[in-house]
Amino acid sequence: MSSDLRWRRVLLKLSGEALTGSEGFGIAPSVVARIADEIGEVVALGGQVGVVVGGGNFVRGAQISATGIDRVSGDHMGMLATVMNALALNAALSARGVPARVMSALPVPTVCETFTQRVALAHFQAGRVVLFAGGTGNPFFTTDTGAVLRATEMGCDVVMKGTQVDGVYSADPKTDPTATRYEQLTHQEVLARGLSVMDATAIALARDNRIPVSVFSIGEPGAFVSVARGGGRSTLVTVEGGADR
Ligand code: UDP
Repeated sequence: MSSDLRWRRVLLKLSGEALTGSEGFGIAPSVVARIADEIGEVVALGGQVGVVVGGGNFVRGAQISATGIDRVSGDHMGMLATVMNALALNAALSARGVPARVMSALPVPTVCETFTQRVALAHFQAGRVVLFAGGTGNPFFTTDTGAVLRATEMGCDVVMKGTQVDGVYSADPKTDPTATRYEQLTHQEVLARGLSVMDATAIALARDNRIPVSVFSIGEPGAFVSVARGGGRSTLVTVEGGADR
């Protein structure tokens, strides 16, 4: 392992929105290319990287169910959207010579492997990036919960959640100039204060499995690599009263 990295095995959570350009919808190839470059840099530093991608740039089940499509069908559509995003990221990584595999919790066997912990661990051990698609594979969950679940199963040292801002703030920094960024919080504080880091299911799962969550801006070029190396701007959600995993 490279001592240049703060964590050896990292689960990067990207929302679907992280892959969009100025339109806020779909996939912007230049953005996907930059993120693939940054993942490649962390791999080159000796990191093992798993990625959970969301699908909100195409479909969110809860939103589409408001249009008359039943929730379970909407959630299946959302999970399929995550497969599209993972395929785009996989293609960009492959084009750069970074070995990667897509594994989906929702089986789509003609386009990618179906997730199993055993094979995913073998991919990590062979130095491949694993792109976890399909969230948890179940409706009524989010890809944030999928990210913490996979981090737990894969023995990751941290979930790095790439958002549109550089951490967790006391208020919305886009609308409130008095908002301040937290350097560190506990999972319990996030839950008690209702801070928008991840949904409560995901945060509780991270707390119970003692997985820290680092929140940083994926929109800022280079931030993923900086934070993975222990620098940059972020908020770290740590386990109360002691060492993490
Ligand atoms: N989804 C689901 N089960 C999961 C993960 C995701 O049903 O375990 C569906 C759900 O409809 C969700 C959509 O996939 O709205 C996209 O995921 P998410 O909203 O987490 O994406 P993000 O906001 O991160 O882009």
